[in-house]
Amino acid sequence: MPLKNKHAEATQLLRASIAHFPTTTLNFDEKVEIFTDGALIVKGNTIQDVGDYLSMHTRYPDAVINDYSGKWILPGLIDSHLHYPQTQSIANYGDQLLSWLENYTFPAEMAFEDEAHAAHIAKVFLNQLLKNGTTTGFVFTTVHASSSQALFRAASDINMAIVAGKVCMDRHCPSNLQDTPALAQRESADLIDEWHNKGRNKYALTPRFAPTSSDAQLAAIGELASQYTDVFIQTHLSENHDEIAWVKSLFPSANGYLDVYDKYNLVRERAVFGHGIHLNQEEWERLGEARATIAFCPTSNLFLGSGLFNMEQARASNVHVALATDVGAGTTFNMFKTYGDAYKVSQLRNAPISPLEGFYLMTQGAAAAHKLDDEIGNLNPGTAADFIVVEPRFDELTALRIDKDALFKDVFFALSILGDDRMIEETWISGQCCYSKKENLDAMA
Ligand SMILES: [Zn+2]
Repeated sequence: MPLKNKHAEATQLLRASIAHFPTTTLNFDEKVEIFTDGALIVKGNTIQDVGDYLSMHTRYPDAVINDYSGKWILPGLIDSHLHYPQTQSIANYGDQLLSWLENYTFPAEMAFEDEAHAAHIAKVFLNQLLKNGTTTGFVFTTVHASSSQALFRAASDINMAIVAGKVCMDRHCPSNLQDTPALAQRESADLIDEWHNKGRNKYALTPRFAPTSSDAQLAAIGELASQYTDVFIQTHLSENHDEIAWVKSLFPSANGYLDVYDKYNLVRERAVFGHGIHLNQEEWERLGEARATIAFCPTSNLFLGSGLFNMEQARASNVHVALATDVGAGTTFNMFKTYGDAYKVSQLRNAPISPLEGFYLMTQGAAAAHKLDDEIGNLNPGTAADFIVVEPRFDELTALRIDKDALFKDVFFALSILGDDRMIEETWISGQCCYSKKENLDAMA
């Protein structure tokens, strides 16, 4: 067990510069809350208070003080779409979506029939999240129910809020990765009963994407979505032109890609669609009306040559957007770098995404889209004590580039371009320090 907290029972005061969005907003400049000399008050597994150091010190005179002056405390980051079985297939050359699946993804996922392998990769995966400051992930597992079990178990060991689900596929993939409509429904329902809202775990119904599920399977998953109205749904949507053409040929009666899911009650609040790069106007409007979310995965979209996400259209259609890595097609576990690539994508579209919006899309904005902002995404009193300690001047170049008294938006932007896991000093989950760079404390050691 990794946990380092000598003062678990005491009230703790963590002094640092602090930034977060306490509320849902589109006015990022005005609504970001910043305490240059701030303090976070943590008691047990929750945040008790946040404010200026002096006022917090006066209000909590007996709190044990941890001094992180010069560093930033931020909410734990949320990665809204990634694949833990692909941890090992990150950074493979040469393919776009459909051949990538065939050549790298499916072979990697077959290995998860072995439960020991799944348990091992789950730990490596969670280590990578924590050392990059991510405290909640929306995670695809594999078709094997045991692969979901392995991830939920590992996350439960550190009381981490994970959202995950068994991948459902009953066609167009290797036969040993196929389930059936009935099996997908039964295993998903069993996993919901066992894990959803148990501890901090949450379940997501997870059809991989329309081409690998028959109508019967999508209908079976849709029945579960109707039955369990607060579970998440996660899948892929309109990532690549060949994929879209394939969906059209497989579902000739549907009115577009999104409609394939809509027909089966899979487009709603808490439905998270990976990518959504090539959507038509009607689909944008439907996503906004349904209050569904798109996971924007810029490093993956560039790596697989999928296209440039249209953030302006998402805003215009009131579609929730959350940033995500999409590892292993994504090229990093680091959400700061992910925003760095989102910025580059938006520059190519002549509509740069501001640093504060980028920060919002991996914290409060993501949490609110997922209806989880009473638990994660901000540093409000009563929420889970999931947060990170960031050292902005972690090497020679960042020390040169980032002034000691730089504004948060400048610090965040520079780190999104220059940063990596070295800037994450500590990652705290549920009031416990689960990763410490200095003490070489591994999340899952
Ligand atoms: Zn994906």
